[in-house]
Amino acid sequence: MINENFLKLPGAYLFAEIAQKVKAFKEATPDANVISLGIGDVTQPLAPAVVEALHKAADELASGATFRGYGPERGYDFLREAIVEHDFKARGINIEPDEIFINDGAKSDTGNFQELLSEDVRIAVTDPIYPVYIDSNVMGGRTGKLGEDGRWSNVVYLPCCAANDFVPELPQPREKVDVIYLCYPNNPTGTTLSRKELQRWVQYALEHDALIFYDAAYEAYIQNDNIPHSIYEILGANRCAVEFHSFSKTAGFTGVRCGYTVVPRKVSAASKKGERIALNPLWNRRQSTKFNGTSYLSQRAAEAIYTPEGKQQIQATIHYYMENARLMRETLTGMGFTVYGGTDAPYLWVRTPDGFSSWGFFEEMLHKAQVVCTPGVGFGPAGEGYVRLTAFGQHEATAEALERIKNM
Ligand code: PLP
Repeated sequence: MINENFLKLPGAYLFAEIAQKVKAFKEATPDANVISLGIGDVTQPLAPAVVEALHKAADELASGATFRGYGPERGYDFLREAIVEHDFKARGINIEPDEIFINDGAKSDTGNFQELLSEDVRIAVTDPIYPVYIDSNVMGGRTGKLGEDGRWSNVVYLPCCAANDFVPELPQPREKVDVIYLCYPNNPTGTTLSRKELQRWVQYALEHDALIFYDAAYEAYIQNDNIPHSIYEILGANRCAVEFHSFSKTAGFTGVRCGYTVVPRKVSAASKKGERIALNPLWNRRQSTKFNGTSYLSQRAAEAIYTPEGKQQIQATIHYYMENARLMRETLTGMGFTVYGGTDAPYLWVRTPDGFSSWGFFEEMLHKAQVVCTPGVGFGPAGEGYVRLTAFGQHEATAEALERIKNM
């Protein structure tokens, strides 16, 4: 017998469905020169400091004297210490190395962390949202039934739309939620939360004994000083929040694979008997059973991001993408599109024109401009009527895509 929860999952994963449609279009139109502003993969090569670290680590593995096999289960000290120093201490945040777990990217941990919690917990998600949070909870049997409206019966949706300026409202008092997934800067909308707005969520979690799973995969794109890079900038968050980081977009690690999760010592959940169980040792137990670590090469590569040269080089690439975002915002707004995001995130959230649905406008752009976008509704019901564009393209291709949209 299989795990029936998997049968509840709708069709293909969003990006697989898009890839299928693009493939069919290319087969039917062999001359087409398709430009993707769709999937959130990066295009620029690794920073020289990272490449150098990779070479050096490969040489170490090539010699008996410096060879390394399995690494420590939470990740190497050199990387966890660099993270603590540069991502937290430098921002006045007190996080200890043993609260950091190195992983192979944020997808695994954002998907897996729900395993620590009972099947009965009620999750809340902002809508639209990165699909992994919901799908992994579907697999965990927590979400109830999928309705015609695209909503799961046992999930609390917190719509983020133009009407609330993409700032989610706290759950209604009658809606008891146990876990809230927040992702800022947001994928897909490219919007952010101010320190004050994030403070309301931490306060809510502390008052209602809820957990916040905070996905900070895009924090490196924040340009505005008033936007928090980490939830731990907010007092009390180290008692209620787990935070996920990724080097994928920070430093082009989508193929290298490395990220980390912060599980503060003080974050806990209740047992049936009412005892408080700290999540840090529990996650360590889970990881040491099911995960054998991120490669030494990837961890040395990630360490190089924190050197002065590494920092400067990855900033230059982030600047390159944010320049795309600026051009996209400016051009699309000039064409009369309503555009959100793209100032502190590599994503632009664009209102579809003339009553087009998300998928309708996806088809229109693919067929008329040969440009791929991501239909907003793929990220949740509140994404209907929007498409997501990413700034991760090459300058020339991005400019060409904009020109084609203009002529569409
Ligand atoms: N979290 C968010 C919000 C993302 O958009 C992504 C990737 O697109 C991830 C996590 C996963 O990143 P990775 O597994 O490459 O670290």
